Amino acid sequence: GKGSVGFIGIGMMGREMVRNLLKAGHGVRAFDVVEAAIAAVVSEGAVGAKNPADAARGCDIVITMLPDTPYVEAVVYSEDGLLKSPPAGKLIVDMSTISPVAARRIHADLQRAGVSFIDAPVSGGPLGAKNGALSIMAGGEAEAFGKAEPFFRAMGTTITHVGASGAGQTVKLCNQLICGINIQAICEALALGRASGVDLDLLRRVLLGGSASSWMLDKLGPAMIGGDVGAGFRIDLMLKDLRLVQEHAQALNVPLPGTALVTSQYVDARAHGEGANGNQALFRVYDRMTNQ
Ligand code: NAD
Repeated sequence: GKGSVGFIGIGMMGREMVRNLLKAGHGVRAFDVVEAAIAAVVSEGAVGAKNPADAARGCDIVITMLPDTPYVEAVVYSEDGLLKSPPAGKLIVDMSTISPVAARRIHADLQRAGVSFIDAPVSGGPLGAKNGALSIMAGGEAEAFGKAEPFFRAMGTTITHVGASGAGQTVKLCNQLICGINIQAICEALALGRASGVDLDLLRRVLLGGSASSWMLDKLGPAMIGGDVGAGFRIDLMLKDLRLVQEHAQALNVPLPGTALVTSQYVDARAHGEGANGNQALFRVYDRMTNQ
């Protein structure tokens, strides 16, 4: 049978995920601090909620899709939050990208209250969310994962239980580290190709056919070459994720020199007003370095 979902955080990603849950026949109780965000999904069949507790009321599962760690903690620990008022199904799934350590702490606190918690961040961006084609990487107990899986299936295509609590966030941070550094590698190749007078569209097409091929070169290469910085995964979101990567690595005493270097280049981009632009705007840093 179809289930009922309390969904908290109806932003760029959340609104598309709610649409797909509704399409799959699930009932959705939606909450966001922005009223207009709730209204957008109420017009498509969701029920508006007044606070996290109200969103959870009577539901099988609550899903959160919030900007960062403190927002998820607020929704869990506040007076009208999920720890005091869990859903009837005693299952909470956070699909935001947050600290793996914080995810494990929330898991432990909820477990003491008899509530299961899964960390299940996603890859694929707003387009993947819209197409119900997200890659979902989940950490937590197998039984709780099994209960969440039918809901994941409405939102994603690649759904993997990657380990115990926090493992989903760890895998997501590994994903972000590779994306961040991969964009840097493409920027450097394009800067060198441009300075040498090579046709950049041709360069990209040749590289896509060989061992230097990547998702980033395929999807973001044209925007870098064309100077289109508007769309895509925002620089400020990438910086948030790279901060989580570095905090986690430092706590584990793992040096990440590549991540450290590319992070300062994203900071350079943000300092030049690129925070709200897509992360292909890292190429502007190379424009300045090569006086282009
Ligand atoms: P967003 O800022 O568009 O949406 C977040 C929503 O949460 C907003 O509508 C905001 O009003 C709401 N919110 C904030 N505090 C709240 C609270 N206390 N209670 C209820 N609602 C609250 O962000 P997004 O792009 O949808 O990203 C959400 C998460 O998904 C982030 O952790 C991000 O890192 C991750 N993510 C984003 C992308 C992407 O491409 N945008 C891709 C993969 C993962």
